[in-house]
Amino acid sequence: MSVIIYAENSEGIFKKAVLEAATYAYKTASMLGTNAAAVLVGEVSSDQKNILSEYGISKIVQIPAPSKDFNVQSWTECVHEGFNHLNGSILVIPNTYTGKSLSPRLSVKLNASLATNVIELPRLESGFEIKRSVFSGKGYAYVTLQKDKKIIALTPNSIELEKNLTSIEEINLNLTFSNPSTTVLEINKAQGKIPLTEAEIVVSAGRGLKGPENWNMVEELANLLGAATACSKPVSDMGWRPHSEHVGQTGITIKPNLYIAIGISGAIQHLAGVSSSKVIVAINKDPEAPFFKAADYGIVGDAFEILPKLIESAKAL
Ligand code: FAD
Repeated sequence: MSVIIYAENSEGIFKKAVLEAATYAYKTASMLGTNAAAVLVGEVSSDQKNILSEYGISKIVQIPAPSKDFNVQSWTECVHEGFNHLNGSILVIPNTYTGKSLSPRLSVKLNASLATNVIELPRLESGFEIKRSVFSGKGYAYVTLQKDKKIIALTPNSIELEKNLTSIEEINLNLTFSNPSTTVLEINKAQGKIPLTEAEIVVSAGRGLKGPENWNMVEELANLLGAATACSKPVSDMGWRPHSEHVGQTGITIKPNLYIAIGISGAIQHLAGVSSSKVIVAINKDPEAPFFKAADYGIVGDAFEILPKLIESAKAL
């Protein structure tokens, strides 16, 4: 019996969400008196594997990638086989796009209880109790996972990273795969230096910015703060910004440490994707803008006057 993570990698590099899953798995395993291990699909350098050992992973099952690009059927088979090979009882998956597609399939294959949007370590006193965020971050649900096997889809940015250095053992597992029912023809990667879902700081702007030509200010502030850029839905609908930046109910859900919203009204559908951010700063010229009710800090004023001042302050810092 051990706690296993799916160590998702992008071209051989682990995302921060994987290290959070490792921290979560290590702490859960310690509570249960067992070890934390990982299933890894595709080639990853030994430097990267060593990073996992810094976060408490003591065993890795490495499976060659079934195909060049991710496809959910074959990857489900890989994680399923790896989990069984490690005699896993709890599987921790980062709740990324990949994780969201894998976890329900794995819960069926493993006959496991599944909790998605998990934001805290389990409480073991009252069964295996899990805290999840629900209704786009507006509430919490406490659920107990009843089955012997359990899958936890951990929301990125929910728990603090913690190093727990351990030595690591590697096992190679070769599998044969049935042909997947879909084939990936092409992947167009979202541009931007920092992936939106992993960013700790997000600078986001809406229709108040008047046009795409004014986004150089947003980008400059984001670059200075080491932040990703985001936008409201109408902004991406009008083609001012790529759809990959659209946050909200119909866009991406994010949970950064700091969300700066510039010229965005704060419609409920926008807030659905950002209200779990740890600190929200709203900048709007309308003092009645709904965003101010959701924000921790507000600046009432014209974005075209405030943004240059923020940029100057960020440069001075
Ligand atoms: P606006 O509503 O036009 O607001 C612009 C804001 O900028 C105003 O508050 C204004 O006071 C301020 N402003 C103007 N000029 C300045 C200035 N110079 N300086 C400072 N402030 C200024 N929206 C999303 O964002 N994400 C979603 O996922 C999403 N999903 C939706 C799903 C459904 C089913 C529906 C019906 C709607 C959805 N929407 C979504 C749209 C949402 O309802 C709002 O229409 C949208 O968020 C508004 O975008 P905005 O705030 O950029 O624009």
